[in-house]
Amino acid sequence: MKIAGLRAGAALTMLGAAMGVAQAQDTGAAASEATRAAQAATAAALPAEGTRDAEFSTRGFLATRADPVILNASGKPVWNLAAYDFVTGPAPDTVNPSLWRHMTHLKHHGLYQVTPNVWQVRGFDLSNMTIIRGQTGWIVIDPLTSVETAQAAMVLVNATLGQRPVSAVIYSHSHADHFGGVRGVIDAGEATAGRVAIIAPEGFMEEATSENVMAGGAMLRRAAYQFGTGMTPGATGQMGSGIGTAVSGGTLSLIAPNATIAATGETRVVDGVALEFQIVSGSEAPAEFNVFIAPEKTFLAAEIATCTLHNILTPRGAKVRDARAWAHYLDEAATRYGPQSDAVISSHCWPIFGREAGTAWLTAQRDNYRWLHDQTVRRMNRGETMHEIAEALEKSPPRINGEEWSTRGYYGTISHNAKAIYQFYLGWYDAVPANLHPHPPVERANRLVEALGGAQRTFELAETAFKRGDYRWSSDLLQNLVFAEPQNAAAKALLAQSYEQQGYQAESAIWRNQFLAAANDIRLGRAESSAAQSNDMVAAISTQDLLDSAATRFAPEQPQARNFTVAIDIPDRNEQAVLEVGEQVMIGRTGALPAKADVTIRGPRRALLALLFVKMPVSAVQAMPGVTIEGDLVALQALIDTLDPLPHGFDIVMP
Ligand SMILES: [Zn+2]
Repeated sequence: MKIAGLRAGAALTMLGAAMGVAQAQDTGAAASEATRAAQAATAAALPAEGTRDAEFSTRGFLATRADPVILNASGKPVWNLAAYDFVTGPAPDTVNPSLWRHMTHLKHHGLYQVTPNVWQVRGFDLSNMTIIRGQTGWIVIDPLTSVETAQAAMVLVNATLGQRPVSAVIYSHSHADHFGGVRGVIDAGEATAGRVAIIAPEGFMEEATSENVMAGGAMLRRAAYQFGTGMTPGATGQMGSGIGTAVSGGTLSLIAPNATIAATGETRVVDGVALEFQIVSGSEAPAEFNVFIAPEKTFLAAEIATCTLHNILTPRGAKVRDARAWAHYLDEAATRYGPQSDAVISSHCWPIFGREAGTAWLTAQRDNYRWLHDQTVRRMNRGETMHEIAEALEKSPPRINGEEWSTRGYYGTISHNAKAIYQFYLGWYDAVPANLHPHPPVERANRLVEALGGAQRTFELAETAFKRGDYRWSSDLLQNLVFAEPQNAAAKALLAQSYEQQGYQAESAIWRNQFLAAANDIRLGRAESSAAQSNDMVAAISTQDLLDSAATRFAPEQPQARNFTVAIDIPDRNEQAVLEVGEQVMIGRTGALPAKADVTIRGPRRALLALLFVKMPVSAVQAMPGVTIEGDLVALQALIDTLDPLPHGFDIVMP
């Protein structure tokens, strides 16, 4: 059964950002005079280009795929290797010159040799696939996001290096771009039969499936802004995602690991290759490890060190990450593994070759997070608020090593990371009581526009700011005006232009995406977000999480169907549960059947999914093979009717 539209998996928020080929019309305007001046000032302040990144991002190139487009089974493109071919020559004035330079190194794709028995497929997805030659086959670290792109990567590996089976799969962490393509490199039977080892950090399955179960609807919508979903790559469009170009749009899969690693220093001989693991859970991902490939003297820094400052709090929304732990892990990596490594690689971006260079790079990455953490906390304890700290740190970036471009913010930024660290310790509130209980945005906007002298006066003030190139202020004023008067065409048009110029100036690819996505929404209306579903992911979510997720769609303001108990028996998973429907809340509890129930549902878990998530009528679910539903069916149907439908997106820059 297809559980169409069930957005319950961690990966699904990322898939919303998938790179399609049919895209929104490119409505990008030219760079304004102020933007051209800002780009020139940025260019003048950039460090020397250096030769390292150009050399390292292409070193070891062996081959790439002849046909740039990768299709899914129904012939729909899920990836285009040629999408960023236009990134060549000097930066256009609609792209921040530092971001443009970044993309000239990130756009490469193909199979690259790193050390004698280690290779990477890069540019076939947001992430990299790392390949190690084992005694009997290939050891694959991080099989990309989609089955289709992973399959294409393996075809390239086998065609270039010789046909061999996959002997082991390693997931570096619990984010979907590091496991979603696994069925493109092995099938589930090979893992359960023990023919293929699948190794992951402890907690991997729980984190892979639960991270976004509760907030998936909001994260999916916000991810479309972060990754620039539906935007065409181009000089006035999408310019990558900082840690890679885009997320592929294919099929997401998941096969559970059959071995986990719990502690730093643990070693395993995998298909004849000695591997040592460094646990870095609780930094970039809640379950994550780095891998030291001992015989190759190669260190995989997973995603805690890449070619950019990462996110302490990703703008699509997530729990805040721990910058202090992150810096400690990088310190351990730099002191314990850097000095033994001829190459340091990541699951994004390009390698750093040479012990000294690799150690220096890990150290620079460490210092970046350490500086951000310490200087934010230092200022916080002096009474500065998150906005003041972000502004101050952004204006005086760390002098770690002027030429270490990887400490710059192509993904995370100093600005939003400083706010994240403040939030990690103190939350959203700055202790100014006016900010403790202000009016919500639209009501505040109505009052603000009135206070400024009305809509016309507000527009004139915004126009003056826009002409001055003060886009932060023109966007602020105009966003308030649009919240107050959503039909004000002039305000909307100028707000789109203002956001667009902010996007053009942004060094961070995901800041650019967010400003340009907002401009598109204002001009074209918002596109419905479409969520791909993954049967593997849905199957891996715990029944408790599913019941809790369904409870977040319970609408107590609807009067029907209250105060009854549902017994749930799931023989195919040997699970029992109870759902207590009250006046205000719905309590799900797994473990045992209740002594007494008003309704009893017995059958495979997909029957429960069909009811609670697809909202299939009770009579239709009863007709599914192996399903019996007994008791007060009217009350059950009334409950299903009152659950909110699965979220299908919402307005962000419109009220
Ligand atoms: Zn990743």
